Amino acid sequence: MSFEPSDLFGPLAKAEPATRTVPVLVPMPAPGPYSYGVPAGMAVVPGSIVQVPLGPRKVIGVVWDGEEAGKVEAAKLRPIEKLFDCPPLDEAMRRFIDWVAAYTLSPPGLVARMAMRTPAAFDPEPMIEGLRFTGHEPDKLTPARRKVLELSSDGLSWTKSGLAHAAGVSTSVIDGLAKQGLFETVFLPPPPLVAKPDPDYAPHRLAGPQEDAAEVIVDDVKAGGFSVSLIDGVTGSGKTEVYFEAIAETLKQGRQVLILLPEIALTTAFLERFHDRFGAKPGEWHSDLATRTREKVWRQTATGDIRVVAGARSALFLPFEDLGLIIVDEEHDPAFKQEDRVFYNARDMAVVRAHIAKIPVVLVSATPSVESQVNSYSGRYKRIHLPTRFADAAMPDLHLIDMRRHPPEKGGFLSPLMLRAMAKTLEKKEQSLLFLNRRGYAPLTLCRVCGHRFQCPQCSSWLVEHRFRGQIQCHQCGYAEPTPQACPECGTLDHLVACGPGVERIAEEVEKHFPEARTLVLSSDMGGVKRLRLELEAIAKGEADIIIGTQLVAKGHNFPLMTLVGIVDADIGLANGDPRAAERTFQLLSQVTGRAGRTGLKSHGLLQTYQPQHPVMMAIVSGDAGAFYEREITERERAVLPPYGRLVSMIVSADNRIDAETHARQLRMAAPAVTGIAILGPAEAPLALIRGRHRFRLLIHGRKTSDMQAFVRTMLERGPKPVRSIQVQVDVDPQSFL
Ligand code: ADP
Ligand code: ZN
Repeated sequence: MSFEPSDLFGPLAKAEPATRTVPVLVPMPAPGPYSYGVPAGMAVVPGSIVQVPLGPRKVIGVVWDGEEAGKVEAAKLRPIEKLFDCPPLDEAMRRFIDWVAAYTLSPPGLVARMAMRTPAAFDPEPMIEGLRFTGHEPDKLTPARRKVLELSSDGLSWTKSGLAHAAGVSTSVIDGLAKQGLFETVFLPPPPLVAKPDPDYAPHRLAGPQEDAAEVIVDDVKAGGFSVSLIDGVTGSGKTEVYFEAIAETLKQGRQVLILLPEIALTTAFLERFHDRFGAKPGEWHSDLATRTREKVWRQTATGDIRVVAGARSALFLPFEDLGLIIVDEEHDPAFKQEDRVFYNARDMAVVRAHIAKIPVVLVSATPSVESQVNSYSGRYKRIHLPTRFADAAMPDLHLIDMRRHPPEKGGFLSPLMLRAMAKTLEKKEQSLLFLNRRGYAPLTLCRVCGHRFQCPQCSSWLVEHRFRGQIQCHQCGYAEPTPQACPECGTLDHLVACGPGVERIAEEVEKHFPEARTLVLSSDMGGVKRLRLELEAIAKGEADIIIGTQLVAKGHNFPLMTLVGIVDADIGLANGDPRAAERTFQLLSQVTGRAGRTGLKSHGLLQTYQPQHPVMMAIVSGDAGAFYEREITERERAVLPPYGRLVSMIVSADNRIDAETHARQLRMAAPAVTGIAILGPAEAPLALIRGRHRFRLLIHGRKTSDMQAFVRTMLERGPKPVRSIQVQVDVDPQSFL
């Protein structure tokens, strides 16, 4: 008689040798995936999210495509340690990650990491504890107990807090009943974060041109496949209403929707509006969410429980179960560009993702980017134009204030014309918004005696006075010190002067002129997202008369009583060397003035400028956006700038100037000779020093058809390896030139 020990004691688990190998992308700046062994019995497929050993650490990676049979013997490789119980990243997502990595010249592992930022979401959500009525009788019946039993006697499961809340009793009442055996413990699946939106919940009847516009994109959704549309319509024309129809159609088809919005954290109004239309909120995705919520959103997007996500740019890397439509609202917004680790523009990558997934993408803006505008004029994108506001709402009347002819009084920044308009608005009990894109009190502080300027010790930027906080701060690195009484250079007391205005200083001027008005400063440094949300809601309810704000007031909000928008310094963005300076100024000023009069009240926009003849100013007041775009487009074409040419910027930085400059020069010398591609620089960057790092820039300029990526790759391969503190950042299609 013979038997195996396992016949008596069961099989003893032992590590089976790996039988095959797979490539796994790990969150490392490596050029490609690493090979790992697959333990027998582990069912991994491309896209599976796994835990693997990496040196002494354990990291989360994703199984990539291609068997690597024969390369290395499977048994010799370190094995995958764990396969997470979570849907694998699908084929379209994997191709998207590869594409983004190749285009932005980023390591694919770092791009993949953007899709896997919430490790706790890779395990299924734990079941939650609930209770169910057993049918027993309590020893005595109090009114509180009766209420609980009335509700729970239907035999359905409840959470303890849910039942207590519904019955209006404290949880101790339920504990007391449970102790007597009236309840048994049951485990319930976790509730979905948001309810399913209903496409037919409360549709609006679209008006004339809106209907035509909606038909185009609804048809695209019905037809399926890749398409790009650009909805170009003035603020308040109903662009949102139009794309809601495309969302409804996608929901009817049972597919998911992604809405990308800049500054989503602040746009509660958008979420409510979505709720009004679809009877449920969309899943929200941005960096201000609590970790637990982020995990749930990630997981429920992957499982398909969340049907619509409204998110910031990183939502593009969420693992949708079945994505059917992407909307990019405010598509021109610079906030879609990430300038950190992986430099990418979410608007452009949204088009790529839609192409790979073979679905429609809709770009939306009142002031489209020149790039998208060119694509729509050329017919590559479908052009959907909404020229007028919905219903009776008229666009604000826009006028320039020539500051040379109507200067402010000494020490002030507001022209008498602006002050007069504000007084009238106040009289009518309507709201004014003063816009200045400068936080703090004054952008520069200097000593009246010796001329000393306060500069950040680790950046080449001036320290900005924040009077509310009693600090001077660096807006590059966050360095701050208490506002000094004496000049550190000459020691003179009380002779420091503030130069130029920030929002706090404008508020001071406003309070002097309108002491009785309710004045509110709104700026991103004035409190967290929660506080800003509340303040935005307060403004919408009319709880402030005069609002002084930075660009965060420009975006998407609907302030019914706002009838005057004043731009304190319309010229501010025109001075820098950015090729998009005019475009950006046009967009920002149009957005801000577009806040006025959205509900039909007669409204005005006043722009203080020293350059009333500038084409941007003329375009804004004449309302002739078409002429402005034509000019910009001609200019871009002539200078072979995007979209007619290509740019890649490289920033070489190091903790000393010589290293940075030398490395940048050597990189330039390593460049191959390619017709049509030229290198500008290296030159010291306008922000020559940030956080103690010296910065040099190279700008690579090519034709539309140039293979910029191959060119840069060759430069980096042939050039010196970054040593010591040297870092090279590559930015394809740069938006920032600082
Ligand atoms: P945009 O997105 O172009 O700024 P919105 O879609 O926000 O414009 O529309 C502006 C305002 O007009 C919103 O309050 C919206 O609810 C309302 N509106 C637009 N179109 C309609 C419609 N067809 N029916 C009812 N309300 C509409
Ligand atoms: Zn600094």
